[in-house]
Amino acid sequence: SAISLTQQFLEKDSKSTVIIIDPSLDSNTSRWKRLVENIGLSIKDNNKSITSDSYGHWLKQLITIGHGANSFSLESLRTIAIQKILSPFESDLNHPINPEIKSIPDLQLLTDLARGEHVLGGPGALGRWLESLSRSPNSDIDEIKKESTQWWLLNLAKSLQPLLREEDISLLKEKNLITGCHSKTILPLVKSSIGGDEWLVNRLKSANNSTTFQYMDNNSIGTPLVIQTLLKYHQELRNMQFNLKHEYPKSGPGWVEEYLTLMNSISLPDNQLKSNSRLRILTPNQTIGCTADLIILANLSSSSWDMRVSKMPFMGEEERHRLNLLRPDGPIRKARHFLKHLLFAGEKTIILDPSLDDSAPPTAPIREWLLSNENIEEFIVKLNPISPRDIRQLDGKRLIKGIKAQHPPINPTSISIPLDIQLQRERERRQPDIVDDKQYLANESRKYIFSLDYSDLSRKTPNGKTIPRNFSSWPVIGGITEDGKRTPTIDPRPFIPIPTGVDVNDSRHGHVTGAGQKVTIWSASRLHDWLKCPRSGWLNRGLRAEQEELQSEDLDARTHGNLLHFVHHDILCHILNMEIGEEFDSINNKRENTSIGNSHLSKNEVMKVALESLDSRAPWLDRTDAVSTHRLQVLTGMNRDEYNDWLANPIPIEPKGRIGTIVEAEFSISDVMPIGIEWDINDYDDAGIEIDLPSEITSPEMQKLPPIIVRGQIDRVDQVPFDKSGKVWLNKEGRNSIAPLKLIDSDWKPRRLIIIRDLKTSESKSSKERHNIGLLEELQLAIYARAWEIAHPGDLVVGVGISLFSHNTTHNLEISNSFQHINQLDIGVISRITEDLYRFPNENNNPSSDQFRAWLTHRLSVSLGVANNATLGKVHPTPSKKVCSYCPVKQICDVKMEDGF
Ligand code: SF4
Repeated sequence: SAISLTQQFLEKDSKSTVIIIDPSLDSNTSRWKRLVENIGLSIKDNNKSITSDSYGHWLKQLITIGHGANSFSLESLRTIAIQKILSPFESDLNHPINPEIKSIPDLQLLTDLARGEHVLGGPGALGRWLESLSRSPNSDIDEIKKESTQWWLLNLAKSLQPLLREEDISLLKEKNLITGCHSKTILPLVKSSIGGDEWLVNRLKSANNSTTFQYMDNNSIGTPLVIQTLLKYHQELRNMQFNLKHEYPKSGPGWVEEYLTLMNSISLPDNQLKSNSRLRILTPNQTIGCTADLIILANLSSSSWDMRVSKMPFMGEEERHRLNLLRPDGPIRKARHFLKHLLFAGEKTIILDPSLDDSAPPTAPIREWLLSNENIEEFIVKLNPISPRDIRQLDGKRLIKGIKAQHPPINPTSISIPLDIQLQRERERRQPDIVDDKQYLANESRKYIFSLDYSDLSRKTPNGKTIPRNFSSWPVIGGITEDGKRTPTIDPRPFIPIPTGVDVNDSRHGHVTGAGQKVTIWSASRLHDWLKCPRSGWLNRGLRAEQEELQSEDLDARTHGNLLHFVHHDILCHILNMEIGEEFDSINNKRENTSIGNSHLSKNEVMKVALESLDSRAPWLDRTDAVSTHRLQVLTGMNRDEYNDWLANPIPIEPKGRIGTIVEAEFSISDVMPIGIEWDINDYDDAGIEIDLPSEITSPEMQKLPPIIVRGQIDRVDQVPFDKSGKVWLNKEGRNSIAPLKLIDSDWKPRRLIIIRDLKTSESKSSKERHNIGLLEELQLAIYARAWEIAHPGDLVVGVGISLFSHNTTHNLEISNSFQHINQLDIGVISRITEDLYRFPNENNNPSSDQFRAWLTHRLSVSLGVANNATLGKVHPTPSKKVCSYCPVKQICDVKMEDGF
């Protein structure tokens, strides 16, 4: 309203002047600036900090990159590498051997390294980076990238040498750290400045030479002003120190601290020449001595015009009173004085009285004045909004009340966006879930369902109710029965909810053309993302929208998981003479040891192999930081001294820690013969493997779905013998063709029996829980099982499961009913989840099929359905608390289901 009144007043007379008084001007400057600009004027801004300019900001970042608790963190290196405002160093150096290697960082490699080798920012981080970067690259692809990144970091550190700690400087003299990780030659480094002042002058000089005007917008103050201001204040500081004969820090953290204090304390002079003296915005004390035609007093609440006495350091109340310092009535007396002046400083004074606002009563002097003036009349002015934002806001309020807006909305379809969430929650509440005595929901309910209680997938059928496998129709969707119990559900996804009929809402919720995906090759994880929520799959996998990942203090869960994977693989490779990614041809070859349990090595000897693998896979465990020490204890059950003793004398040792449980678990599955580790579908066919289903066994409607092409790596493939004593591994009478999905209708016989295992790491879920999820919620076990069968005619997958590396390692397994002898073999912890649940859709309620094959076929149907919906562009959201909490795009999803809903 103050601005509105000002505008009216200034427009009436071209010579009139106005002063607006705001007691809390300091905190409102940017608001006033915006409001004043709305009426075509500008005000001076005197408190622009040096870092509000991009050059000032990046200079500060560069100065502090090796300083403090976040020094040389991944984030700071990444941002310095990405920005284009200032160059951290100038280098015209050529690589001594390989001209392909340039001093340029690879950001993905930095991120992977930080995660994989657990490099966190802080004191000592530079050493950890250089140590990790100086290790030989793992793959040919990384050779050039890694040495380029290593060279860039070395140059960065060298150029920043005058600002670094002594410990960091000494690293730049260590031969092994400055030797190229790939070329094995000493890398030439840029020259460093002598002392912080010279470094600063050189940086400012290089900025002057290459001022990047193209990155500046009209509002930018400009690099030259920042440089001038910095140099001026820096010179003044040095002159002062010289005159006072002060010793000032020449380099290192002391110099950085001093410079940061300087940077934080100076502000940039306002370079906006256009100032308008007809309107001034001032605090009450600034107004003393000023006059104008109109004075407007705004922001007069007690919280804005504070009447409290400021505190005096090191002085109690009593002492203050005694010395008559900062009297408690001081501020109010001053305020009364200012108010007196303001009332007579202009021809007209308008006081914007906040009395009507209960939450912000007027400040004391205003209250006094109002009470002491009996002749005050209520004066109501009708003010029109002046800023485009206010005009739009007013229109919005009118629309909510059903009144016609003055201006048509910019995007009429967006008006209903705030209602999306209510509509979605309303639809969720209306999802059918009462089955009463019918036991399961009718098939027509499918189109009204778009969320799932995942525990229904593995739920036991309540007593007295028919199990899904024997129910009159299949697949079933469970619900709440008349006695309040829930019946189990066969995964009804992918959901295809019907449109609401409100076009604007439907168009935002997947019922629109144009989002169709052309995915030529699917991975199990991509399918799973689309399965959990098609909107998330589309945004995350199709449009690649996701949150930037931040590095956590603790070891990344993926690094921990990968490490356990590799240790497991190394044990098998070392003892069974296998290779990662290479399949053992058990049809044409024999090997001495079929499994670890049969290898005649003791558990202690196998533990020795595992620890040797750990030492080579995780060199960062040698570090003495808290995370490494803790992880070492968790992984090996040993403290640092015990581990160091063992490294000095590597002997067979009792299995302990997570690694120990992997060893123990291997002895509990001694009847299987591992034949593949990280078996890659690409090795069979570069173009992936096509998975197709005949319509009569495709769930839920027995309608043909387009085939999909898949790729991926199977963590572990085991072979199972045909007899209890483990002698017959091959059935020579078996067929040499691909196993049919529905075995019951054919006389097909397998040549080999196979088990597919997916290795997982989880600290929070029990092994049974994780196995159930793998089997009933995810798709990879079924996809990998079928892909193996297709790639290996004659092989029949008779078991799949999740092997969980946790406090204990457990190899879980869901197995086929067709071969009873495998129940008696040591092949893992056997589950019977699918037994009551699965049959083929073309069977009646007295099925004779193998439930395991029926499960496999159903999961493949779900996969094909998910891929088909993605092709058709069905990208509707299917919110559920479980999925939304971990959704990488939840920040941009308006219908997400949040905790506590
Ligand atoms: S937040 Fe929930 S509903 Fe939204 S995209 Fe993610 S998973 Fe789907």
